[in-house]
This record gives sequence, C-alpha cells and structure tokens, in this order.
Amino acid sequence: MNVGVRKKAMGTYDGFPIFEASNGYVRIYIAKKEILFHIYVYEKFNGPILPKHAIHHINGIKTDNRIENLQMLTYGDHVKIHKGWIKKNGEWYAKFCPMCKEYVPLTDFYKSNSKEDRPSATCKKCHTVYVREWKHKNPDKSRAIKSKSYRKHKKTIKTHYREWYDKKLIENPDYFKNYRKKYLVNRKSLTSKKTISDI
Ligand SMILES: [Zn+2]
Ligand SMILES: [Zn+2]
Repeated sequence: MNVGVRKKAMGTYDGFPIFEASNGYVRIYIAKKEILFHIYVYEKFNGPILPKHAIHHINGIKTDNRIENLQMLTYGDHVKIHKGWIKKNGEWYAKFCPMCKEYVPLTDFYKSNSKEDRPSATCKKCHTVYVREWKHKNPDKSRAIKSKSYRKHKKTIKTHYREWYDKKLIENPDYFKNYRKKYLVNRKSLTSKKTISDI
C-alpha cells in the first residue's frame, strides 16, 4: 500500500506520519505499512486487542483518537452500539426504534424467529401500525400472503385443529352441539343486522 505517502500528512505521532483515509478513519504510516491509527493508539496503551474485538470511538468521531475516546468491544457489542442499543446496569436494556425515534426497552420489540438475540427493527407498537397500514394499502398482496401461508402450513393447521377438536370432545362431548347452536344464533343475528343496515 502506497496511498499514505502520496497523501498529505495531518501531522505526526511518535514520529510517524498520520493522514485521514477516504473512509474517514485516520491511518499511521510505519515501516512502509499503513495501520489504523485508533488501533495503534489503543494497543500502545493497552497491549494487543483481543481476538474478535473491535476498537470503538466513544463519541462517534472517527478522527478523535485520544485514548480516552477509544473502547474495546466484542464484535457483537460493537454492532449493537452502532445500531443504537443502550445498556443499563451492565445489561443490554433498550434500543433505538427508527420509526417512533425513541429508545424503547428490548422487551417491547418482537423476537426474530430466525435468530435469537435479534429483535425486530421497529418496536411492537410501530410494527403493528406499520403492518396495519401496509395491509390497508396492499389488500391483494396481503390476501395472497395469507393464503400462501395457509397453503404452506395447511397440514399443521389441520392437525392442530383436529387435535383441539378431539381434546374438546373428550373434555365435553356436548361442546360442539352447544357451540353450533351458539354459532347459528350469532350468525342469524349478524345476518339480520346486516340486512337492516343494508336497507
Ligand atoms: Zn464503533
Ligand atoms: Zn417505535
């Protein structure tokens, strides 16, 4: 790498030239090698960085490489911090919801079913609003997704209802007789209401 020597140095550190790279990070040029300046500074004071750890700029300013602005974090924690997660008493507690623009407790996010420890991007409240609006704007797509999902899980759904049906019958053999009666009455009242309002 020869980029460093062609660029104008911002100054020197420990006698080596430092310069700002195009990605906003500062690099230091030592023995014909470019090293990330924040890594150099951190290791100078604290020794080698642990494996699978990154050095984070606490105030978010990549060119502020004072040792007090540098913090070693695991890769996982580093990603979380940049996604707006915050800790309380040493535990991850809340994260930023880009929709309501607020810090919301992690328990108020949906859990992702693909990976644990990866909550939904928006908080539960915003997610519900979003889904409702989306369904309203895309009724055909919404219906298609619903029926596609039904076709995909048809077997499971049917088995589930069969099991539930059998269980109810064992618990109370008259359940469905009563249920049917109730259902018919309800339906009658519903349809009659409908006819009235339709007129
Ligand atoms: Zn960082
Ligand atoms: Zn929200």
